[in-house]
Amino acid sequence: TAVLDTDFFRRWMSAVSAAVDREAGRLTELDSAIGDADHGANMRRGLAAAVASLEEERPATPGAVLVLAGRRLISTVGGASGPLYGTLLRRAGKALGDAGSVDAALLRDALRTGVEAVAQLGSAAPGDKTMLDALYPAIEALGESGDGFEAARRAAEEGAAATVPMQARRGRASYLGERSIGHQDPGATSSALFFAALAEAAGD
Ligand code: ADP
Ligand code: MG
Ligand code: MG
Repeated sequence: TAVLDTDFFRRWMSAVSAAVDREAGRLTELDSAIGDADHGANMRRGLAAAVASLEEERPATPGAVLVLAGRRLISTVGGASGPLYGTLLRRAGKALGDAGSVDAALLRDALRTGVEAVAQLGSAAPGDKTMLDALYPAIEALGESGDGFEAARRAAEEGAAATVPMQARRGRASYLGERSIGHQDPGATSSALFFAALAEAAGD
């Protein structure tokens, strides 16, 4: 099993930021169909601030990297996605404790804790057409061994694609009722970027 050190977690956050920069147009386009057309800008602003803070403060452990990144997302993103992703990263970071490096099984358990906190904060469940529809399948795909970043990446993408026929029951998209059907959820799409970046940081 791979040992994931502090530098791995910094690379992960940088890779998320780069992916969000590349895909910001698409995220905003998806959010213009069933939301308020700011998801790309929200994610860019939040991840750029997170990466800048990681550079300045140089947190010393994997847990501290995720806690700091989560804190910055919460403080810089006005939209729903800021507190939700911020909670995911903060809770996952806390669950990692203060170890200098972690294995993939601990990372999977910590991410599950974080995703459950997102579900609680947003009062949302799988099938509600939210980021959870990409996050839960990705966590499950990380698997028993704790390995399998590439499988998680694929599961998150499939989970995001599976939101197209769903009717939104949480967030702004839910205001559209049946008119939310037929569009991919922006947050599920950005969640897939988190897992693509994880696989990238792992060199999968
Ligand atoms: P806002 O909707 O405030 O403009 P964003 O556009 O940045 O925020 O993020 C929208 C995304 O946030 C949605 O596509 C959805 O995936 C996610 N989201 C919104 N509300 C919830 C919720 N209650 N639970 C989980 N995810 C949610
Ligand atoms: Mg929006
Ligand atoms: Mg908004």
